[in-house]
Amino acid sequence: MPDYDVIVIGAGNAALAAAVSAREAGAPRVVALEKAPPELRGGNTHYSGGLLRFAFDRAEDLRPLVPDAESHIPGFMTGVQPYPKTLFWDDLRRVTEGHTDPELAEILIDRSYDTICWMAKQGIVMEPAVSLSGIKVGNTIKWSPGAVIRARHEGVGLSRMWFEIAESRGVEIRYATSAVRLVQDARGRVSGVVVRDAQGVSELSAKAVVLGCGGFESNPEWRARYLGRPWDHAKVRGTRYNTGDGLRMALELSALPHGQWTGCHSTPIDANAPPFGDRKLTDKTNRLSFPFGVLVNRNGRRFFDEGEDFQLYTYAKLGGIILNQPSGIAYQIFDAKVANLLEGRYKTGKPFVADSLKGLVEQLPLDQAACRTTLDEYDAALGDGTFDPTIRDGLAAQGVEPAKSNWAQRLDTPPFVAYPVTGGITFTFGGVHVNDRAQVLDTTWAPIPGLHACGEMVGGLFHTNYPGGTGLMSGAVFGRIAGASAAAA
Ligand SMILES: Cc1cc2nc3c(=O)[nH]c(=O)nc-3n(C[C@H](O)[C@H](O)[C@H](O)COP(=O)(O)OP(=O)(O)OC[C@H]3O[C@@H](n4cnc5c(N)ncnc54)[C@H](O)[C@@H]3O)c2cc1C
Repeated sequence: MPDYDVIVIGAGNAALAAAVSAREAGAPRVVALEKAPPELRGGNTHYSGGLLRFAFDRAEDLRPLVPDAESHIPGFMTGVQPYPKTLFWDDLRRVTEGHTDPELAEILIDRSYDTICWMAKQGIVMEPAVSLSGIKVGNTIKWSPGAVIRARHEGVGLSRMWFEIAESRGVEIRYATSAVRLVQDARGRVSGVVVRDAQGVSELSAKAVVLGCGGFESNPEWRARYLGRPWDHAKVRGTRYNTGDGLRMALELSALPHGQWTGCHSTPIDANAPPFGDRKLTDKTNRLSFPFGVLVNRNGRRFFDEGEDFQLYTYAKLGGIILNQPSGIAYQIFDAKVANLLEGRYKTGKPFVADSLKGLVEQLPLDQAACRTTLDEYDAALGDGTFDPTIRDGLAAQGVEPAKSNWAQRLDTPPFVAYPVTGGITFTFGGVHVNDRAQVLDTTWAPIPGLHACGEMVGGLFHTNYPGGTGLMSGAVFGRIAGASAAAA
């Protein structure tokens, strides 16, 4: 008799969703192996904003998830626009430039609402994601499409709730236990895992294994190998433990690589952020209000259409674009007109401040003459219209390169501020190919018996960019499927 029915490798959102799902599907003995010690547990999930993107047809569909929302936010339901599957599809297709794997995307989108309800049923408590995607207009809060709900207490709460739920369902958690290698029996079925812990190296046997141990974002050697320069010296926004171990173990068994191995999710973060995620600051180093300002590099030049789209559709590619600027640094410049639109997390940073734009530029460690010219050219290119942060307002700066397509206002109201930013890596896009049962395929395109994958390890969904809130949803959808499918083994 094997040691376990299901071994889940990892203890983030995807892995613990898989472990809980495996128990629910009847697997009596389920263990989650967590490489981190208890005080650093939970992977990127702990650091996340806990935002969950899912499709829903009516605002009313949110009521089972946030039953008391209207008592905290009067008129909550009125401000929410439906986000049907077709819109989720449009967003995913557009931001990935048509590269998202249609079969995997169909599973993700089609099961997103059912899965978030399943999470709520398991005991994940949720709340409206006001500070991440809500903008107050009069007495109503307007929401970024599809990104309305997050786990209560964000990623810290989500991770803590998953551990509590998993433990209450009898899932064993083995901390400070690294999976090192997968074991296959003579027929090719994955029958166990070689692990390393304080006692040394040993083997655990199981009927099935679920890989939920993240991408390779925390491994500079793999980043250099697949993402190239300058990713080897990027700051990591989350856990230090996602070093590609699961991908290596799967590839050693001829797993089929899938998706964009040269791509990753990376965002503009405080240039002074620590090299790895801070357990307390979590995602508060993010600097995502760039659509309302002007972004310049060390050469004093603009290099990105700050107003291309709402931030949740562009932030995940902007980090890499900044990292590829001279010294990997840029400056977000705002005036007082938009001070109330800057996300609360800007308070964790130290901006340059001045009473005049000229005075601000004089403080910045960049080509100041070029920056003044850039700002003059931007000013001259501004068009007419009405600024509205809740819609793509078409208020553009045209005729400059690059244009600013929306929310382009004059920088004319003191005080002026500039926040130094760099690009921080969140997670990598390359992964293994899974089927609709979250089974890992091998290079003959057949499932590897007994091997499943979920979360960041699933390749094919994201390319170049990503719609905010999709990572956790993908982890929950494929984790839930992987757990049930592993239990059936
Ligand atoms: C700062 C930040 C903010 C984010 N905000 C959001 C958000 O609001 N919404 C959203 O959808 N996404 C967000 N994301 C992305 C999201 O966190 C990830 O997509 C998601 O958490 C990935 O879940 P996962 O379970 O695949 O991986 P993780 O949560 O990273 O879990 C991986 C687990 O595997 C373990 N592990 C690694 N190697 C081994 C090994 N060899 N043996 C055993 N265990 C191992 C790790 O310790 C960890 O427990 C954010 C990420 C970051 C870093």
